[in-house]
Amino acid sequence: VRARVMEVTETPDTTYEDIGGLDEQVKEVRETIELPLTDPDMFDETGIDPPSGVLLHGPPGTGKTMLAKAAARQTDARFIKMAGSELVHKFIGEGARLVRDLFEVARQKAPSVVFIDEIDAVASKRTESKTSGDAEVQRTMMQLLSEMDGFEGRGDVKIIAATNRFDMLDRAILRPGRFDRLIEVPLPNEEGREQIFRIHSREMNVSDNLDYERLARVTEGMSGADVKAICTEAGMFSIRDRETTVDMGDFLDAYDKVREDSEEEGEKSM
Ligand code: ATP
Repeated sequence: VRARVMEVTETPDTTYEDIGGLDEQVKEVRETIELPLTDPDMFDETGIDPPSGVLLHGPPGTGKTMLAKAAARQTDARFIKMAGSELVHKFIGEGARLVRDLFEVARQKAPSVVFIDEIDAVASKRTESKTSGDAEVQRTMMQLLSEMDGFEGRGDVKIIAATNRFDMLDRAILRPGRFDRLIEVPLPNEEGREQIFRIHSREMNVSDNLDYERLARVTEGMSGADVKAICTEAGMFSIRDRETTVDMGDFLDAYDKVREDSEEEGEKSM
């Protein structure tokens, strides 16, 4: 069971250079995750406890997972990922045990970065109903809180959680000593989108006159994941035309396609 829900990466291949437009967030992650791992004496001498958990919140596809992976890579730490939804939905009745296992593995493999995606699935505000499903989610969350409370002084295991639904979170997980550092990861602005286009087309054979500024302008409101999808689709359009150079026309066609796809997605979920 453990192997299927927990994803352990010895050395993630994501670096900070792969992340576009999140300079502030990168800086904060470095201070809160990296510094305690690379320079624990600083905290000892200053007399403050390093933060044990960091919560990244913001819309889907904005780079939260990338930030966590880059932090693990930079510190030569194992990256251990688990999705909150899997903890509670996939193996009914196993949630609390999986949380225990997760932290056990993290300690064995230290230094390590534990990444819990979709933390809202285990830690959303208490619902009114008292169904057995809720009780199970409660137990999973209690286990998570107790693992975090027992964390003091264990500087070589860092916990990063992520959510797209910050307002749904149970405030108990935000108490001091738990996820007491909040980092907002917003949608990229125009400059950020341009950087992300440049990052994802780095390895592509693009035409010399590609207008990155225009691509950044027209993609207002899109996420990093959308920008990445546009780059991949642009490549597909060019292959379909039997061309190996990807030009502006391909990127604009790809933009239309990705926009239409996401509008359809939006309608479906309404
Ligand atoms: P979710 O909340 O859906 O889990 P997330 O915020 O964790 O999303 P990531 O998994 O980090 O998002 O991003 C998905 C993909 O989108 C990345 O693998 C990357 O290709 C691209 N991407 C997203 N944001 C950025 C960014 N800021 N810079 C470069 N690429 C990005």
